[in-house]
Amino acid sequence: MALTIGVDIGGTKIASGVVAEDGRILDRALRPTPADSPELVADAIADAVAELAARHAVEAVGLGAAGFVDETRSNVRFAPNLAWREEPLRKKVTELVGLPVVVENDANATAWGEYRFGAGRGESHVVCVALGTGIGGGIVLGGDLYRGRWGMGAELGHMQVVPEGLPCGCGNHGCWEQYASGNALVRQARINAAADPSAAARLLDLAGGAPDGIVGQHVTAAAREGDAAALAAFEFVAGWLAQGLADLAAVLDPGCFIIGGGVSGAADLFLDRVRDDYAARLTGRGHRPLAGIRAAELGPAAGMVGAADLARLR
Ligand SMILES: [Zn+2]
Repeated sequence: MALTIGVDIGGTKIASGVVAEDGRILDRALRPTPADSPELVADAIADAVAELAARHAVEAVGLGAAGFVDETRSNVRFAPNLAWREEPLRKKVTELVGLPVVVENDANATAWGEYRFGAGRGESHVVCVALGTGIGGGIVLGGDLYRGRWGMGAELGHMQVVPEGLPCGCGNHGCWEQYASGNALVRQARINAAADPSAAARLLDLAGGAPDGIVGQHVTAAAREGDAAALAAFEFVAGWLAQGLADLAAVLDPGCFIIGGGVSGAADLFLDRVRDDYAARLTGRGHRPLAGIRAAELGPAAGMVGAADLARLR
């Protein structure tokens, strides 16, 4: 059985694992991310790979990197949370580990993992939307990962949905991720609680009394207990999520959407609403099949599993 290593390189930790052909994770190694130094990041990746390779016969390494990966799948052009600028990541890590290495954007690797082994199994056209600090996107079309001409495609979170809207970390205004991410959920819950504290009694109780103390877990917990402000925050995010999915369907016509990221743990609180709103806003509605809208299945390991599989298929 061919084994490969998948490495998910995030802003705070480097999660690596040995992955079998069927997507099972057989072993893991974790390192903190030395975010300030590209050299130390490469060393930490190599160290984790060496630990795993000493215990398993592995044939290749896939790296999922939180940044813009170029079309040769070798260099990271830029990373918002790491010191990578035109970083030759593939070359560096190949020299350190002595195994074939592929580099993939982390959201693409996550989408690939869900397509192969998670909620997208059996589908050929899949759009993965990960709701966290922002919105990560990955697109599989006809069984191939869609990267765009220069490797920069599927940055779904930065579609502008509101002209002159909220400022985004990317420098533009009104990006989708300002309205339909985990951060958007918390922001809206704080706004709701400040506007009408009596409708947010449980939410404010969990948050220690002040709207600014509200975090994601408070919104989910309060919504489960029927808190009106928390439920309204989920409705806000569900509406904007549905609008973005309907727009994506107009362009891509996927067979299913997979909703991942931290917020997907609360899928039961908002996905039905997303499905209803999506069906109501879809162009050609009533005359086309409805894409499935499903919660992700692999959780935080999807990126590691996807990167390992991409290394196997290199
Ligand atoms: Zn943006």
